[in-house]
Order: sequence, then C-alpha cells, then structure tokens
Amino acid sequence: MIETSGVLYIVATPLGNLGDMSPRAIEVLQQVDWIAAEDTRHSGRLLQHFGITTRMLSLHDHNEQQQSERLLQMLSEGKSLALISDAGTPLISDPGYRMVQRAREEGFVVVPVPGPSAVIAALSVSGLPTDRFAFEGFPPPKQGVRKRYLETLANESRTLVFYESCHRIVDSLQDMAAIFGIQRQAVVARELTKTFEEIQAGDLAGLVQWVTSDANHQKGEFVVLIHGVSPAEGDQALDEEALQTLRVLMEELPLKQAARLTAKRHGLQNRMVYQAGLALKG
Ligand code: SAM
Repeated sequence: MIETSGVLYIVATPLGNLGDMSPRAIEVLQQVDWIAAEDTRHSGRLLQHFGITTRMLSLHDHNEQQQSERLLQMLSEGKSLALISDAGTPLISDPGYRMVQRAREEGFVVVPVPGPSAVIAALSVSGLPTDRFAFEGFPPPKQGVRKRYLETLANESRTLVFYESCHRIVDSLQDMAAIFGIQRQAVVARELTKTFEEIQAGDLAGLVQWVTSDANHQKGEFVVLIHGVSPAEGDQALDEEALQTLRVLMEELPLKQAARLTAKRHGLQNRMVYQAGLALKG
C-alpha cells in the first residue's frame, strides 16, 4: 500500500522494452489520484498495456508553469499525483523540474520511483570510465553554437555523456571529431532496450564512418559517450591563443625559454607549456 495523500511520485517508465516497467511503478500509477504525463496519448498506450485506469492530465514544457499551480492545488487538497515522461526518468532532459521545485517549496513530500534512464543504461555498457562522468543532455542544435560549446568541454577529464536525436547525430559526431580529435575514444549507444539496439565503440573517426556508412545507423535515439582526456593529454591541450604565443616564441628562442615566457604571459604551468612545445616540435 502506498501513501496516497498529498504526495508527488516521480515515476520512471521503460525506454522501449516494457519488461523494464517495475512492479512498484505499476502499483503507484494504479493507486494515485492523477497521473501527470508529458504526452497523454503516448502514455495512454503504456497505461493501457498494464491495465492502469488512473486519470491523466498533461504537463509538458509549454504548460509546466501554469499546470504546476493546478497540481499544487490538488496536492493541497490531499490528492496524490504521479509524474511520468514519454520514456525513462522524468526531469532527465524532460519536463518536471519546476513542478518538483514548487512542490518541495510548498512542503509536499516528493517520492522517487526509480527505473530506466538512457544515460545510466548507456554508461553501464560503454566500457568507458564511470567513476566520474558529466551528463550534458542535448548539445545545442545550431552548428556554430554547438562548436563553441564543445570547445569548452575539450579538456574535460570526466566521461562526457550526450543525448542526440536522429536528425543531428551525424553533424554532432562530426563536430565532436573535429573538436575532441579523431582519435578520442567514444561510444554510440542506439535504440537501447529496443529491437535494433546497438552499442558501437571506437575512436571518433571510426564512429563517424560507422554512422555515415549505413542509413540504418542514423535511425532512432542515441546516447553519445566520450572518453575524458587523461591528465597527460590535458596538459598538452593549451588554448589556441597560448599555442600561438608558444609557436611565435619557439621560432626565436630555445624551447625552455619560450615555454617559460608563454606560461608567464598566459598564467599557465611551465611544465604543461613545455610538454605542448615538445608536441609541437613533433
Ligand atoms: N528522460 C529520458 C531518460 O531518462 O533517459 C530522456 C528523455 S530525452 C527527451 C530523449 C533522449 O534520450 C533521446 O533523444 C535519446 O538521446 C535518449 N534516449 C531515450 N531513449 C533512448 C534509447 N532507447 N536509446 C538511446 N537513447 C535514448
């Protein structure tokens, strides 16, 4: 029996395979007074499959602010609510943040009913380090903005995790290869838990080749995971301005002196600039 008075449940639902629906998720969705769903038609099919007849209302990006107030009113009347999204865990690149924030501000109990999420499923099979990772959600859709944004992540040492859609998977992977380097190790996880699930690992050059070589590899939903830079690689990755200074000084001075002056000018460590100079010399 679940607590059914004035409680908001945040309920994860399957990414594709209905066998991933937890018994507790079914119980909660059956017993609450209302289910707030991102797309009521889409979720209606899921609920029907499990014989759940609870009433639904919609909560999506465009009505969240206004709808949250209505839901808070219901909680204050002692009703219980469950929030679900189209797939996976609500609030993870999905609506609900404002609703949860408001519910907590008003002192209502918010209870997680955990389950599938593409970021965790992809990490668990990627073979990349999982002790520290940075979840970045969807990269910006416009190429110029995306490239500048990826540049800010070029020296990140944690595993990077991105969501991407079929419309932009090729462009995004190509930009990642250009900015993170074609040799950076990465994984593309496609259609997780579904019939055409694929987990493809390799360097970014190989993954661009894989995704462009077959139109089927561009279909469905994607998680892209990028190996973080190792501390040694990070040391060599100076920004373009510092590299330019170093190049000019190296034309006139011995490496040691050029590195010291560059480090001083750009506020960097001597050793790191020296290593970059060695890499420039080849
Ligand atoms: N809340 C969801 C979660 O917990 O993973 C994510 C919702 S977000 C709007 C949708 C994105 O998640 C997709 O574009 C894709 O990047 C990723 N995703 C969702 N389901 C997936 C699947 N079965 N395989 C791979 N990626 C998936």
